[in-house]
Amino acid sequence: MFLLLLVAVLLPTVCLLWFMSRTVRNERLAVRDQFETLYQSRLVDAQGEIARFWEQRGAAFDEYGDRMNCAAVFAGYVRKGLADSVVCYDSAGRPSYPSPAVTAPVFAETEPASWRRARNVEYAQKDPSVAAGLYRDIAQENEDANSAARGLQAQVRCLLKADQKDAAVKVLTEDLLQPKHADAVDPRGRLIVPSAQLLALQLLADQTHPVFEPVADALRARLTDYGDEALPSAQRRFLMGQLKLLVPDAAEFVTYEAELLAARYLETDPSTIATSSVQPSGLPDVWRFRSRRGTIVGLFRQAHLLADLEEAIAARFSQDDARIALLVPGAKPSEGTPFATLPAGDALPNWQLGLHPTDPSRFDSAADEQVAAYVWSGGLVILLIFGLAGLLAHYIGRQMRLTRLKNDLVATVTHELKTPLSSMRVLVDTLLDGQYEDKHITREYLELIAKENIRLSRLIDNFLSFSRMERNKRSFDFREVAPSDVVAAAIDATREKFESAGFRVETQVPSDLPALYADADAIVGVLLNLLDNAYKYSDNDRHVIVRAYEDAGAVCFDVEDHGIGLSRRAARRVFDRFYRVDQRLSRKTEGCGLGLDIVQFVVTSHGGEVAVESQPGEGSKFTVRLPAAGSEEAAKLQRATG
Ligand code: ADP
Repeated sequence: MFLLLLVAVLLPTVCLLWFMSRTVRNERLAVRDQFETLYQSRLVDAQGEIARFWEQRGAAFDEYGDRMNCAAVFAGYVRKGLADSVVCYDSAGRPSYPSPAVTAPVFAETEPASWRRARNVEYAQKDPSVAAGLYRDIAQENEDANSAARGLQAQVRCLLKADQKDAAVKVLTEDLLQPKHADAVDPRGRLIVPSAQLLALQLLADQTHPVFEPVADALRARLTDYGDEALPSAQRRFLMGQLKLLVPDAAEFVTYEAELLAARYLETDPSTIATSSVQPSGLPDVWRFRSRRGTIVGLFRQAHLLADLEEAIAARFSQDDARIALLVPGAKPSEGTPFATLPAGDALPNWQLGLHPTDPSRFDSAADEQVAAYVWSGGLVILLIFGLAGLLAHYIGRQMRLTRLKNDLVATVTHELKTPLSSMRVLVDTLLDGQYEDKHITREYLELIAKENIRLSRLIDNFLSFSRMERNKRSFDFREVAPSDVVAAAIDATREKFESAGFRVETQVPSDLPALYADADAIVGVLLNLLDNAYKYSDNDRHVIVRAYEDAGAVCFDVEDHGIGLSRRAARRVFDRFYRVDQRLSRKTEGCGLGLDIVQFVVTSHGGEVAVESQPGEGSKFTVRLPAAGSEEAAKLQRATG
């Protein structure tokens, strides 16, 4: 039965727990799904932002490209931070800025005689001082700016060979810097003046020299003037590098790094690119992007590019619960696996957008709220199941106990009633037969019948008490009672029985005992039950003592016999209903195991307690302890019973 109940509880509980665990898992997945949908839409927005970013870059490239020369376009983009570097192409797809590497020198077909003579003195006769004079003459005689400037250049060379540094510096800083030489170029197409300025600075070396600063300023101005198309990019790059070496503090060129990057890029790939999307360049960690018209290619260092794009994306969103990062093709994500990804779009082929929640535990905590609701309701249902099962078990147990009780009672009643009734019948039949005329025998028989009758009455009394007790119908009539009266009543009722069986009944009742607050008949019944047991379970030593005494505000009654006694285990159980120590005994002595149960019920109903002390073979002492009238317990009882 209980096994069935256990299954009935466990099965739904296990099912519920399984269902709950599934629900919890599904709930977590559902929350993740919700966030994923939300974040996907954010990634789509970020994709749009990237497309817009490159759209604007492309438009800006084309717009500048239309309005300015290539060098200015280059400087404009770099200074505005539109790209780390730029390469401009002409309509044929050839790079126009930075211009291709240095070209071979172009000399006039026939060299004038004056030049031949000066060279002869310089190189064949090895007389630099004379050659310097010849070159100065060439410079002065020539109207053509290129030839004049080249003459001065050669003069400086010879003066330096002749160890006339001051004279060389003078030519460099005075003669050569005249405005007419401004655009003069050497046979390789390089501007002569900026090179001369650098040489002058190198020769002067001393930065405090009055000429040094103006020359350096003039050179710096020339190098940063990207409107001037005459200066070849390779020469500009070289001069910038040299000037930076010469005056590291004063020569900071915003475009220098861009110049170097563009030059390095052109060394790897001088042709323009076909598509206007971001592609890897031949340089590590440098990406390139072509304007729509294809005349400009922007170069981007990866770190800058990522920073710019991520800044543009971040500016688009006000929420700070997640960060969108770009994943470079082939690279490992630096921030761990993103929660959601999306291709970065056509402008950035093979790039990915990755979303990283700022607080990844957020999904769990969002799910946790829902899960907690499930767990609570599941827990309550389980509790309810257990509660109901408990109630049911209690009810069933009670019903089973009652059924058993009923059966026991019926068996006991029939057995117990049958014995005195049948012996009475035999005696009555014998008397009716009229065989015994003897008055003495007749009296003896009648006395036996009376005894059986008394026994029957006690039995029926006990059954009635028990029945009332069971139905909670037993009511007591509480009054103040003298303990001596109770003892006297019990002794009187049993005197004859004890005497005829040869018992010695001793009573020890002091006269000054406090009164009890009790139902006198019920307490007399208690003593009768105890005396009855002393009678039944005494062997050869037929000595019974009944004591009454005061103990700490209570009145105690002892019923002590010297009979068969009880084992320790039996002593613990004697107050249980229908309990009888030995089945063999039960056949020998009448009784149904109800007496002590009734005793206990009556005593506890009076706010008292009953106990037994016993030794097997030596006898038992049952002690009933009841509150004295006027004690706190009695007052409590009085209040409770009205
Ligand atoms: P019963 O009607 O069988 O006497 P009780 O409830 O009065 O039922 O007693 C329960 C059992 O306790 C008895 O069967 C008996 O074995 C044991 N018992 C009770 N009183 C004594 C006693 N004075 N000495 C020894 N055994 C006792």
